[in-house]
This record gives sequence, C-alpha cells and structure tokens, in this order.
Amino acid sequence: MELLINALEMLNKYPLCDHCLGRQFALLGYNIENNERGKALKLALVLQSNQFYSERNQQGYDILNMLMVNGLSQVAKDTLEYLEKNVIDVSKIQNCFLCDNKFQSLENIILIILESITGYDFETFLVGIELPVEIEERNDEFKALFNVVYGESLRHEFARLIGKKIAGLTNKIPEYANPDIQIIVNPFTMKIRLQVNPLFIAGRYKKFVRTLPQSKWYCVKCRGNGCSKCNGTGKLYSESVEELVSEPLLEITDCEKTIFHASGREDIDALMLGAGRPFVIEISKPKKRFLNLDLLMKKINKIAEKKVEVSNLQYVNKNFVRQLKKGESAKKEYRALVEFENEISQASMAILEDKLAKISIKQQTPKRVLHRRADLTRERYIYNLNVKRVSPKRVEIKILCQGGLYIKELVSGDGGRTMPSISSLLENQAKTLELDVLNVITNDKK
Ligand SMILES: [Zn+2]
Ligand SMILES: [Zn+2]
Repeated sequence: MELLINALEMLNKYPLCDHCLGRQFALLGYNIENNERGKALKLALVLQSNQFYSERNQQGYDILNMLMVNGLSQVAKDTLEYLEKNVIDVSKIQNCFLCDNKFQSLENIILIILESITGYDFETFLVGIELPVEIEERNDEFKALFNVVYGESLRHEFARLIGKKIAGLTNKIPEYANPDIQIIVNPFTMKIRLQVNPLFIAGRYKKFVRTLPQSKWYCVKCRGNGCSKCNGTGKLYSESVEELVSEPLLEITDCEKTIFHASGREDIDALMLGAGRPFVIEISKPKKRFLNLDLLMKKINKIAEKKVEVSNLQYVNKNFVRQLKKGESAKKEYRALVEFENEISQASMAILEDKLAKISIKQQTPKRVLHRRADLTRERYIYNLNVKRVSPKRVEIKILCQGGLYIKELVSGDGGRTMPSISSLLENQAKTLELDVLNVITNDKK
C-alpha cells in the first residue's frame, strides 16, 4: 500500500503528531479530521509491525519503537510493552517536527481568544493565523520532500479548527468577505490580536448658531496641549459640530476614536439649514456595534440642543465616505445678507440677477483660507441667483451654485481674486453680514 509506505517514510524521518501526519492526506476521505487520519495511519502501521514481530522479523520491533518515539503513539508503546514484557524507555520521545505539539494547546488558545473578544459586539468573524517564519519554511520543505499533493496547510488547519470551535461556542458566523472582527492568532506565541471592523454611521446635520466650527480646531499657539491662550483646553473653540455629534458615540460604542467626514463645510459663522449637510462618522475599534440609531439620534439632539440637529442616521459602508467626498461638488443653495458701501438701486439688482446666473465664476483660493488650501484658480458654476433689497444698502441674495464656490468672496471680490464678483459688477464694495446654507443637494437619497 503506497499511502502507508509514504506515511512510514515520513515518520521514519521526522516525529509527527496525529494532526500533522493526517494533514498530509487531508483531501482523502470525507467527514473526518486530520488527527483521526493520522491516528488511523499509525494504527495500521502498528498492526503491520505487530505481524512482523510475531513472524520474528526485526522490522517489527524497529517500526513499533519508531512509532512510539516519532509517532508519539500510545498504541505502539502499549503494544511494545505487551510484546516485550517490560516497561519501555520513553525518554527519546520528541515534539512534533511540524507543529511543536501546538495542536495539544488548542483548548488553551480557545480560552485566551474567548477572553480577548469578551465585551465586543460581533455577528461575523474570521480567524487568521500567524506562524513563525521557520515553522512555515519547515512545513514547505516537508511538503516538497515528500511530494505531498493531498495535503492541507498548517495555517489552514489551525484557522479551520479554531474557527469551528469559536463558532460553536459563541454562535457567531465565520465570514471571509467583511467580518465584524478578525481574530489573529499565533499558536506558537499564544498571542491574540483583534482587528475590529470600523463602523460607519451616516446622517445629515443642521447648524443653528454662528459661533460653531464644523470640526475641532486646535489652539494655534499650543497645538492642542493646552496653554493660557486657550484656557488650557487646547482648542480654539470650546465645541464643534464634530464634537457634539461624536462624543455620544465615543461613549456608547466604547471605541478607540471617531473620525468625522462631511460633504463640504460651512464657515463657522454660517448656518446650515434645509435638510442638513450629509456626514459620516467612522468609528474605530467599536466594542458596541449594534446600536439603536433612533435613540442615538435623540441623545445627540438633546446634548446639542439649539446648536446642532442630526437626522437620517443609518449604517453605511466604507465606500460611502468616498461618495460623500465626491458629493462635495454637488449643488448648494445659499442665503446671504449683503451690505454695500453705497446705496443700491433697483436696476443694479436686475444687473446682478442677469449677469450672475448661468455663468462660471473664476475663483482664486480666498486669502482667508490660503493657510490651509493650495493657491489655485477654480471655476464654479452659478445656476441661479435671486436678489431682494431689504434696506437702501442691504440685499438678501439666494444663490444656487456648484459646491465649492466661496460665497463671501463672490460678494466681496476678494481684492480681484474672484471674477466676476458682486462688488466688481456694481462697482460698489459689498460684504457678507450673514450666510446660511439652505440646502446641500446630492444625487443619492441619504
Ligand atoms: Zn504536529
Ligand atoms: Zn493653547
């Protein structure tokens, strides 16, 4: 029998546990584990060598002894002791050449894993295996030496057995594509690492105050360490949309950190009205991932009352962040309260409505954002513009334009950096007193 001779050759050369011998024949026989395969092969060899022994063939003793030492076989040892009528010296028994007997520690590994995943919400998981390089090389060389074609890899067997155990004990589902949690196990060092899939929660926010930045602004003097200028807070503004929305999530999900992504941003002094601005919060390493989004929404809106309001909270995937960034150039609708240096006529309002609708504005990066944006000239389209005089020097303007157009500079002209501008068209210097975002119009329904 070729297969038995094969197994015998392997054992003659290297000590192998039941798992590691059986694994070399893993694709043969269905619904049986590798250790049972290995055990069966060793048992067949014990029977054969017992026959040799009884026929006074020296090979009988030699193979039985080898199976005891290299095969770590209890049956071989018991048989030899029975045949020889004395206690056999087992001091030569070595650890398995391929796994260093690590399959015997599987139960311990499982216990460590169960401990390390305690407290984490998950439905799906994946077990990944890390092996020491020398072990991997050793397994590869072994496979080549014995021309193993029906085998399974050591990594795969560990992952499969551990995955099966964890699934059974936790009632969770192993999943390859996008598991909630990845358990990375090194069976040789017994070290466990968890890779927790981030959570993405999308929504829209409205902003009702003119003193709130979108994101956290670190103090320029101390860069977040806290100094006299910022009263030790490390921040330029005591709160932001980002913080108001994220802080309840930090607490509820018990996560490592949150990242706030939004489709564009409004100025600190601009209101965000209408249906609100789309955003996504990325939550890193959340312990809790199955949230009641309705309760969450109520909690945020209570904490941020009269300042910020969120709506449409929903789970999304990572791709949504990219879509959101793309949506920055989506249409925006603004309302601006503008004041001119000199009084304005009814005719000049008609001029604005005529000259500023359906045209592209050339806008060089505004001076006030040059410190954080590259100095470029961009073209942004205005779809429509409505002007209403509210006093001799003041008008209210509603603008529907491509996202990314800086409205304050459209009004002032920014020293000629925005062309044309409301100031330049009327030769009457204008400035923005109030700015509100009335709508962020995206293609999706979220
Ligand atoms: Zn082994
Ligand atoms: Zn400071």
